[in-house]
Amino acid sequence: MEAIEETRTTLKESGIRITPQRISIMEYLANTSNHPSADQIYISLEKQFPNISLATVYNNLHFLSKRGIIKELHVNGTSRFDANTSDHYHFICKSCGKVEDIEYPLFYEIEDFTENFYGYTVHTHSLQLYGICQSCQPQKEGHDCKNCNLCNYLEQHVVGLAPSSNSN
Ligand code: ZN
Ligand code: MN
Repeated sequence: MEAIEETRTTLKESGIRITPQRISIMEYLANTSNHPSADQIYISLEKQFPNISLATVYNNLHFLSKRGIIKELHVNGTSRFDANTSDHYHFICKSCGKVEDIEYPLFYEIEDFTENFYGYTVHTHSLQLYGICQSCQPQKEGHDCKNCNLCNYLEQHVVGLAPSSNSN
């Protein structure tokens, strides 16, 4: 399994002790785009490690996110976890709680502005958008990217950025 080898290498290079639990947590995260909570990860890992506790899963998740191996998101008072540690934004559905990646150019201007105008040193910024996802609003038709000015603009100026058309 190549992916597991990559995971081992990532941990080794970061000087993090490799444990079967850590490998499994990272594999689980790498194979999902759901931004799971610790509970969800725990339920999945329990099958593989019958003696694992929720606390162990939590501790490992916090340990890995503190070292930048994974990302911790704060959503409605709970933590959700992301294998994608690159800067990106999220949409959170207020109805079903789904957390989705939003591919949009990063607002680095706000970091420059804050540093220059306020004199603060900015390390990072986060942005979460809240609303209702498509599945939770079935009356709404799929977005027609081809006829959307913003999507057309983004496709022309940021190659590969516009979401693929999901109109049917
Ligand atoms: Zn939803
Ligand atoms: Mn994400």
